[in-house]
Amino acid sequence: MVNNKKIYFDYAATTPVHDDVLRAMMPYFQQDFGNPSSIHAWGQEAEGAIEKSRSQIAHFLHVEESEIIFTGCGTESDNLALKGVALARRKTTGAYKILISPVEHHAVFHTAQQLRDVFGFEMDFVSVNKYGLVDVDELAKKIDSKTAIVSIIYGNNEIGTINPIKQIGECCRDHNVVFHTDAVQAAAHLAIDVVDENIDLLSIGAHKFYGPKGVGALYCRKNISMIPVITGGKQERGLRGGTHNVPYIVGMAEAINFISRERSNNSDRYIELRDFLIEGVISNIKKTRLTGHPTNRLPNHASFVFQGVDGNLLLILLDQAGFACSSGSACKTGNPEPSEVLNAIGLSKDWALGSLRVTLGLFTTREQIEQFIKILPNTVLQATK
Ligand SMILES: *Cc1c(COP(=O)(O)O)cnc(C)c1O
Repeated sequence: MVNNKKIYFDYAATTPVHDDVLRAMMPYFQQDFGNPSSIHAWGQEAEGAIEKSRSQIAHFLHVEESEIIFTGCGTESDNLALKGVALARRKTTGAYKILISPVEHHAVFHTAQQLRDVFGFEMDFVSVNKYGLVDVDELAKKIDSKTAIVSIIYGNNEIGTINPIKQIGECCRDHNVVFHTDAVQAAAHLAIDVVDENIDLLSIGAHKFYGPKGVGALYCRKNISMIPVITGGKQERGLRGGTHNVPYIVGMAEAINFISRERSNNSDRYIELRDFLIEGVISNIKKTRLTGHPTNRLPNHASFVFQGVDGNLLLILLDQAGFACSSGSACKTGNPEPSEVLNAIGLSKDWALGSLRVTLGLFTTREQIEQFIKILPNTVLQATK
């Protein structure tokens, strides 16, 4: 760790690369540096590594190798899913509507906005309740023959809530519409079975689960057509041009192996620590609310709002006290506006501007949380407007 005195509570933002992952990646920088598209031995070696990685990731998601597309990050996976499917569906069926929730990550939200503003699609929202859970009955009513794609986040990065993905998937299948889910947070913690959950497309990004930054994957069910966003060579069956980032892809697969091995043990530990943290924060600070669902949430994720508190100032004060936390959304300095997600779950501005996200991971201990609970009340007081 960079600084042993500092405590890292921001595992939803990113995680350190696991030792096994780094070790698996190293040979592919210098020794086995070949281009997977080359015919010769160097190329074959690299291609072998890519296909082995693809197979490991496919196995993890219970899908076929040919249904995995490597991308440059979780954001790119979301872009390829939404743009790729929306453009292909419009071309073949004339569908022109994008249906998302108001609690999507910006990688989905801003992509849908661009499809509206630049590409001429319509964008519509299905509402969420106060926990950020999508209303499946409303979803059923909003889908029609002109809906090109539905995209709903699996585990929320900001408020931790886990959506009823299986019901959403069934609803989309019943209405014959393509369903994408952003599982960039969820994949690290939940056992996902895309077939059982009726998921057509699913995004992951390696750096959220102890893999390297700058590599991701998109699962795309066979027979769903997409138009590539990055055009170029014939890599990834022509759906994503560009020479493969071999070491990072190998690293992502190794990180998948690591989490699938350790996930169930870690989950129980995280849930216990998370609930200890939530209880400590709620009972020690007045005018506090947990955001997101109290139990149906990511195992490592706790998020709060404090009334009348300057959330950005709180983060700075916590950092000075040695704790790296987040507000949950991209901080806006200057004239801060509450995040779209906190708006969507019905929080007023004086609550929503005082948000705090604390996310746990491999190196989190109970002692760290005890220390945090001890200093937090006074820090929140200092950040009160
Ligand atoms: C981090 C994150 C992304 C973006 O992934 P990158 O690999 O950083 O581009 C997308 N969606 C969610 C829910 C995330 O948490």
